[in-house]
Amino acid sequence: MENKIKEVVELIKNSKRTTAFTGAGISVESGIPPFRGEGGLWNKYDPIVLDLNYFFSNPRESWSVIKEIFYDFFGTAKFNRAHEVLAEMEKQNYLSAVITQNIDNLHQEAGSKVVHEFHGNSKTLICTSCNNRFPITDNVFKKLPPKCEDCGSLLKPDFIFFGEGIPQQAYQKSIEAAQNSDVFIVIGSTGEVMPASQMPVIAKQNGATIIEINPNTSNYTSGITDIFLQGKAGEVLDLVMRGLE
Ligand code: NAD
Ligand code: ZN
Repeated sequence: MENKIKEVVELIKNSKRTTAFTGAGISVESGIPPFRGEGGLWNKYDPIVLDLNYFFSNPRESWSVIKEIFYDFFGTAKFNRAHEVLAEMEKQNYLSAVITQNIDNLHQEAGSKVVHEFHGNSKTLICTSCNNRFPITDNVFKKLPPKCEDCGSLLKPDFIFFGEGIPQQAYQKSIEAAQNSDVFIVIGSTGEVMPASQMPVIAKQNGATIIEINPNTSNYTSGITDIFLQGKAGEVLDLVMRGLE
């Protein structure tokens, strides 16, 4: 492991453009479980609440589960060492951007500035009719489902549900970042969620060295990964940061 960390530190130091690509795994040490696998949320909840048709037909039932998972539970999570290191790497010009599949806002809370949110963000709500956006306040969930202050229509979390397209700007910026990176660090992602899972593949096709951090192997590990740092995101990134300093 020590030699691999040294190799990764050198790669990052000599890189013109390093990008991080993060999945649910980076927030596990913050207490937010992934959706799939051991301890995953879909073992406890039915993912149908994030199906757009179901949501529109059953807004109150959907919202009561959505509130429990994404606001009562996720809402109390704090960023961890892994988020902190990525923010510090950006500050020291070792990292150009984070592409995240997560919706928990923890990269921004840790101080990262350039974050392409592939799946949106849970910290704002969007009106399903006039598209106005509203920050989460204590009052917004007093009565479920929450309604738009401007037009009275149903509000939805500002992250994408099953069957929705990727937000245009985040999609473009993510592809650009993947194409233009020479080092691409994949952290805590199974590589099972399309089209996000294509970003590391695009980076690889454009010549990037793929570094992967995950306690478990993923769809990438035996395929496109060049250097596999097996371990928890916070612990491994802490070692990388010590090497950079
Ligand atoms: P995923 O692809 O995000 O996979 C989670 C990965 O994290 C697995 O490969 C697992 O081995 C790895 N992992 C577990 N502990 C880790 C640790 N300490 N450090 C590093 N890696 C670790 O799969 P998913 O959970 O099915 O997610 C599906 C989609 O939903 C993704 O887009 C994901 O980002 C999103 N999601 C987001 C959040 C969040 O915002 N925090 C939570 C759950 C799911
Ligand atoms: Zn509205």
